[in-house]
Amino acid sequence: MKTIGVLTSGGDAPGMNAAIRAVVRAGIYNNLKVIGIERGYDGLINGKIKEMDLSSVADIIHRGGTILKTARCEEFKTEEGRKKALNVLNVFGIDGLVVIGGDGSFMGAQKLSQSGIQTIGIPGTIDNDLGYTDYTIGFDTAINTVLESISKLRDTSTSHGRANVIEVMGRHCGDIALYTGLAGGAESIIVPEVDFETGDVCEKLIRGKTRGKLHSIIMLAEGIGNAFELGKEIEGKTGIETKVTVLGHIQRGGNPTAFDRVFASKMGARAVELLLDGKSGRALGIHNNKIIDIDIHEALSKKKRFDEDMYRLAKILSI
Ligand code: ATP
Repeated sequence: MKTIGVLTSGGDAPGMNAAIRAVVRAGIYNNLKVIGIERGYDGLINGKIKEMDLSSVADIIHRGGTILKTARCEEFKTEEGRKKALNVLNVFGIDGLVVIGGDGSFMGAQKLSQSGIQTIGIPGTIDNDLGYTDYTIGFDTAINTVLESISKLRDTSTSHGRANVIEVMGRHCGDIALYTGLAGGAESIIVPEVDFETGDVCEKLIRGKTRGKLHSIIMLAEGIGNAFELGKEIEGKTGIETKVTVLGHIQRGGNPTAFDRVFASKMGARAVELLLDGKSGRALGIHNNKIIDIDIHEALSKKKRFDEDMYRLAKILSI
């Protein structure tokens, strides 16, 4: 193997830059030529590539976003689109590729691997929605960003005796709401994995108010109804003034935490090792604090397990 490529695809996540840096530097350390592909599979199809050197990844380990930019690319889902991509890979002599992204990006990586390109996936997505790995790159940063917002909202809510509905990302996976709900001392956590009744949320708020509580936090994963309607309903049923905050893309930005940087650096370097070992179609992850690699097909078929114990604990502690 002489030349490898690296790209970021799907939603951006803090820590992707640390992973790119590790792939580039570990590649160069091992005498490989490393090519950066811009804008994910779209850039691959359209030949948006540049050779990376040591200084091209200087001063990025602490930055959110991705210096290679990212994109979603419908064309790559087609046979024809992937043929164009394979052609670009051949023309530039790229025989190994590291794909940093979520499950959709991994599906693309799997297809490239089946077409004979050695491909390794690194999980970069803030949602933590991949079943085979305990954490994905960006999740830790995202939950810390949410926690910071919770603390700020708490300050102002306490002053007014208000309740807060805070909507966070995680349309199909409630991990952001769950972790931040527990760490932020939320009264209620509403996630897609567990049915909820507005009546229960209201009852808890009233119990808290009777006990003299000055504020309440309700964490809501996006996509479960409308946060503003929920806020109105809670206010109507409890008589407690309820403010709604939708954190949105703020959760995607910011300097990656130490955890995300370390984890991304280890995975980037491991991806290069796997390519040098002739491996392909592998997905990197973290399990019990160790970096693992498993077959990408198996990784994609593992259903994400919701941590019911953590959910129960959050409920007990917010009694
Ligand atoms: P996030 O979790 O942040 O949404 P993701 O990687 O899951 O990240 P997607 O938009 O699902 O984001 O996928 C990113 C890209 O991967 C798509 O735009 C497409 O180019 C490619 N892709 C997705 N699914 C497939 C597929 N079945 N076959 C080939 N390529 C795919």
